[in-house]
Amino acid sequence: MKIDLHLHTTFSDGKLSPEELVRMAYENHYSYISITDHDTFGGYLDAQKYLNKYKLELIPGAEISTILDTTEVHILAYYFDINNDKLNSLLRQVYDSRYGRAKQMVKNLDTLGINLEWKDVLIYAGENKYIGRPHIARALIEKGIVKSIKEAFDRYLSNDSPAYVPKYRVDTEYAIKAIQEAGGVAVLAHPGRLPDDAMVYTCIDMGIDGIEVYYASHAHGQTRLYEQIALENNLVRTGGTDFHGNEFYYINYSAPDICIKELKKAYNKRHIKG
Ligand code: AMP
Ligand code: MN
Ligand code: MN
Ligand code: MN
Repeated sequence: MKIDLHLHTTFSDGKLSPEELVRMAYENHYSYISITDHDTFGGYLDAQKYLNKYKLELIPGAEISTILDTTEVHILAYYFDINNDKLNSLLRQVYDSRYGRAKQMVKNLDTLGINLEWKDVLIYAGENKYIGRPHIARALIEKGIVKSIKEAFDRYLSNDSPAYVPKYRVDTEYAIKAIQEAGGVAVLAHPGRLPDDAMVYTCIDMGIDGIEVYYASHAHGQTRLYEQIALENNLVRTGGTDFHGNEFYYINYSAPDICIKELKKAYNKRHIKG
């Protein structure tokens, strides 16, 4: 059984549309996937249209940008009620704020002598008007200013670049509670990318339901560490590739079967409780 619970589409900064992604997953024999676009479940909603053609189980998902002290922490949301008002307004606030922030980054680049026009970036935003730094990176490549996404981040877009503008992010604990109130399961994304493992325990104290133990880019030792923390604290274990459309070798990946079992168990528990 093949499982990938962390995938991006054109509804955020992925390159494939939900239809293309579902088809790719189907053709590569995935049984369970979740589309976890940044700050929206639009990718999940759109992908549902193609499930009669590409038969697999699609788990409702989103990846929320939150802030813990001064660190950006990504929280994965699964199995939430898409009609929940609080979760919808939270996502809308974070998603919509990206537009002005990206515009400011383009202005800052201009001040630094990098002549990128807003319309050059908009091309990559698509009809959903989602703009993230990867879109600015693609525009920088297109203009011949840099050669790769990596170079774009290293030189102009990283958090310590003078052009960088932080996006609006919601408080981590508030996001966890909002997901849970919407009947969903809140999971700490890629803990291995946090600056300090103590933050994992902070999220546990905040009542997080799970940890993305089997993140494809975790080193073996990281996976073992987060697995142990999850087991000791009775948390759901999940896993995925964080596929954005380039990393084709990721079709060889699968999260372990227990991820689905634990995720469904947590969801059912919350659902029965009401
Ligand atoms: P944003 O949400 O607009 O701040 O952009 C963050 C996104 O940029 C992440 O979700 C990744 O997809 C991508 N990203 C962040 N850092 C890098 C990097 N060093 N190289 C390539 N992509 C990156
Ligand atoms: Mn991304
Ligand atoms: Mn992330
Ligand atoms: Mn992601």
